[in-house]
Amino acid sequence: MPKLNDAFRNLNASYLFAEIRRRTKAFTDANPGARLINLGIGDVSRPLPPAVVRALHEAVDELARAETFKGYGPYTGYEWLAAEIARHDFAPRGITLGTDEIFISDGGKSDSANLQELFARDGVVALMDPVYPVYADANVLAGRSGAADARGHYAGIVYLPCTAANDFAPALPDRRVDVIYLCYPNNPTGAVATRAALARWVEYARANDAVIIFDAAYEAYIVDADVPHSIYEIDGAREVAIECRSFSKNAGFTGLRLAYTVVPKAARGRFADGSESSLNALWHRRTASKYQGPPYLIQKAGAAVFSPEGAKQVRALIEYYMENARLITEGLRAGGYAVYGGRNAPYIWLGAPAGRSSWDFFDTLLTRAHVVGVPGSGFGPSGEGYFRLTAFGSREQTEEAVERIRTRL
Ligand code: PLP
Repeated sequence: MPKLNDAFRNLNASYLFAEIRRRTKAFTDANPGARLINLGIGDVSRPLPPAVVRALHEAVDELARAETFKGYGPYTGYEWLAAEIARHDFAPRGITLGTDEIFISDGGKSDSANLQELFARDGVVALMDPVYPVYADANVLAGRSGAADARGHYAGIVYLPCTAANDFAPALPDRRVDVIYLCYPNNPTGAVATRAALARWVEYARANDAVIIFDAAYEAYIVDADVPHSIYEIDGAREVAIECRSFSKNAGFTGLRLAYTVVPKAARGRFADGSESSLNALWHRRTASKYQGPPYLIQKAGAAVFSPEGAKQVRALIEYYMENARLITEGLRAGGYAVYGGRNAPYIWLGAPAGRSSWDFFDTLLTRAHVVGVPGSGFGPSGEGYFRLTAFGSREQTEEAVERIRTRL
């Protein structure tokens, strides 16, 4: 038999969403009449914008004709889409990016999991806690974590606790780290970073030869004018930051799959022998070896997001979900819950009622209100005692869920 990668055994035993499914199924098996409302999902529920659907149809027709057929595309995505991204997502904020600094991919999930391959195996990783679990798992599998303790806490990872006590804004690490994952707007807390807070992170990274992996998957949900949308709005960030974005949560591409990562040419690192390389050159090399670029159809659909019509339709989708966020936030706050997030993000982060654990609150919500959410402890040790609801349901279900939580708990 082959020798296996022992790091698999360090992954936290129960994958969060599998455990949610297990408990939910046990409840519905025992209560077949219960009408569950799922506000746990991080997946969108509205259909694709019409401009995107039209672009998909047109692209299919192109592939059907010999004169316009396309086979393999560029590894890093088509330049015309990268140019649209630079022009619409960055130029209006005073950020100039070359198309060769934008790597188009099939998802923010794979990008944020794969980027760690750029860095030394013995590098120290710092994670916001709680946060999107993919960053931790990718580094666990790469062998940077060691085993987890009973709380799911890895000795080899530096945790940056984000709780109500620090307004969900983590302090800088108290030691030197190599790679810092920041997720803003944050999944799951819904917190955003001020310009001053991001500037402190950039300063830390520059002073400590560290790199920031900035996950801005929810950037489109930012409404407050003083909240930066990109880390490159901060002076000096280009030398120390990589930024991941996605078409999933703004334009509804969770099923189509399209995202991109910015790796500036100015960001550099050092090999063990002291020689240097730009991160851009390495990511290009890695992409060429392991990836073939997203499908032509999907990239055409992505370009449609930037058309005037597409942009308007995407805005309407975001407004739909954010009205759900407002209904949950205001409804539960009026019901006496400690409610965070839900303003610049589609996530609502609840404090579980005093002394209750996240899973305990999950069970209460499921059995009394027939509402499914996500226990905060699944996003990291500091998520214990909190609970995540999302704004991605339908309006009717969202309204009913709030009513049930308020009246049945
Ligand atoms: N980054 C964060 C913070 C997320 O919450 C998610 C999805 O939930 C992703 C990335 C994944 O995005 P994609 O659908 O592009 O893989």
